[in-house]
Order: sequence, then C-alpha cells, then structure tokens
Amino acid sequence: MKISQIFEQCKPVISFEIFPPKQTTSIESIYSTIDALAPLSPDFISVTYGAGGTTRGNTVQIASVLQNRYNITPLAHLTCVGATRDSMSQILKELEDEGVENILALRGDLPEGAILGDFNYGSDLVSYIKQNGKFDVAAACYPEKHIEALTMEEDLARLRHKTACGTDVLISQLFFDNEVFYKWRDYVRSMGIHTPIVAGIMPITSAKQLKRMVTLCGASIPVTIQGLVKAYHHNAQALKEAGIAYATMQIIDLLASGVDGIHLYTMNQADIAKRIMENIRGINYAVKTKRV
Ligand code: FAD
Repeated sequence: MKISQIFEQCKPVISFEIFPPKQTTSIESIYSTIDALAPLSPDFISVTYGAGGTTRGNTVQIASVLQNRYNITPLAHLTCVGATRDSMSQILKELEDEGVENILALRGDLPEGAILGDFNYGSDLVSYIKQNGKFDVAAACYPEKHIEALTMEEDLARLRHKTACGTDVLISQLFFDNEVFYKWRDYVRSMGIHTPIVAGIMPITSAKQLKRMVTLCGASIPVTIQGLVKAYHHNAQALKEAGIAYATMQIIDLLASGVDGIHLYTMNQADIAKRIMENIRGINYAVKTKRV
C-alpha cells in the first residue's frame, strides 16, 4: 500500500525503522527481528540504506521480504551519496519489480571525502523519483534544524522546497524534547506546509548510543535525560528501562497533541519496540481514528 493512503485512512500512523545487518553478518539475521516486530502491527516499516550504497542490495531484499512475505508495507530508504541517474533508475526498477511502492529519499550522511553524484540534496532525489515512477516519496525533516544548516530559517526554506518537489510524508530526526517539536511543527504549518509529519523517537539504550546519536544529529538533551544517564550509566539494565519509560512518555504526550504519526527507531531491538508498544497500546487504540 502507498503510505499516503495509510495517512488518509487513519491517524496516528505508527511505523518502525530497521537497518540491514552489517556486510559481515548474514541477511537472515534480520528476519528474526521482523518476526518479532510483525505481531506489533506497525502501519509500515522503513529499511535504512548505507550511504554510498554499501547495503543497497540488502535494502531492496528486506523491503521485498516485508512486502511479499510479511505483508507489511515497506518504505525503502535511498540516498544521493554515490548515486547516478543510471544507478538510481536501476534501483527504482528493482523496487518496482518487487512491488515496493514507497521510498524515503535522502541526501545521506557524507562519509569523509564522499562525492555526490548526479543528486546533491534530498529534494533532487524527491523530484527524480516522483518523475520516474509511481512511488510515494517520504523525506527527512529536522525539528532542531539539520546540523549543517547555518540557521533554522535557511533549513525551513529548504524544507519548503523539498515539499514543493512532491514529498508525500515527512519523517523527523529523533528528538527528546517534545516542546521543541511542537514549536517547530506549528511554525512549519504556519508556512503553509501541510504534509503529514511523523515524529521520530529513539529510545535511549546506552550512554554510548546516546552520545553517538547526538554527535551525529545534534539533538539537544533535556535535563531529565542528563540526570538519567548520570544516575544509571554504570547500570545498563536500569538505563534501558529508563529509556523505555522516557520514550513511552514522549509518545503518549505526542499522541495527546494529535501527532500525525510516530516513527520508532528500533535499532533492530524488537524487545524494546515491543515494550513500548505494549505501554502505549491502550492509548493508541483509544486515540486512533479512521479518517472519513
Ligand atoms: P537535505 O534535505 O539534502 O539537506 C542537507 C543539508 O543541505 C541541510 O543542511 C539543508 O538545509 C541543506 N540544503 C538542502 N537543500 C539545499 C539546497 N538546494 N541548497 C543548499 N542547501 C540545501 N542516512 C543514511 O545514510 N541512510 C539512511 O537510511 C538514513 N535514514 C534516515 C532517516 C531519517 C528519518 C532521517 C531524519 C535521517 C536519515 N539519514 C539516513 C540521515 C540523513 O541522510 C542525514 O541527516 C543527511 O545529512 C541529510 O539528509 P537529507 O535528505 O535530510 O538532506
């Protein structure tokens, strides 16, 4: 199913992100993760793509398995990094042949010395995919601005352009402070951008993971999280439990705010996704509405 149809049918939409196993690991290892995620009935599952195409084949294969074996709507990530028009055309054909209808179009994080090919920005890829197939296209957005953007105004002008290129759905970078998200979302709506916005939530599982993510994307860390990490950084189990509880509260608050969707960065840890989904099940059921 196309993701725009999912958003037309119900609100909020709940989705998961998974990543292909490292090249040294068998692709089969992801299937036990999907086996555990499938009963949680996500509206779609997105599959990341190694910038530069390192796991390209795996992204297509996993998206295909989601579609054809699990009957779960897949959203395949693709990046500009290292892509040419020819390579993009080929991968779009592969996805189409597998029945995959949705793509998350990204520039990709630029590895040291990386060269961009025929596409420089996420918006270039959105335009190309919209003009070269029947795909629904999602794109990324940044409630705390993209780390390379000099100002929020500049980043929002780029976002406006990205939506004008035909983006069907926006998925946000992870954030830990809902108030920051609400303020940003209100501003985006005031700009006349009405594309559905899905809130990206990543449960904290370790101090190391938090540090890595924050370095990569620049998300701000609220005082509460700083306190949790300080108190529990030597106790992995306690920090994981605190991370699940914090993500649960974030999601409950987002659902109360009428968010269009929640995208859970699962990090392939199905047990954590399961705990969070169990925590929010009653509320999600109560607020989920069919659109007419
Ligand atoms: P863009 O929209 O191209 O923006 C990048 C920067 O350029 C921004 O600072 C923007 O303000 C600026 N900009 C945009 N357009 C223009 C323009 N026309 N002129 C000048 N400046 C411009 N990375 C991966 O490698 N693989 C993945 O699978 C992956 N999945 C992700 C999923 C989500 C939901 C998110 C939020 C991110 C994901 N990323 C992934 C990371 C993403 O690739 C990086 O954040 C990357 O640095 C930016 O990608 P983008 O498409 O948002 O960039």
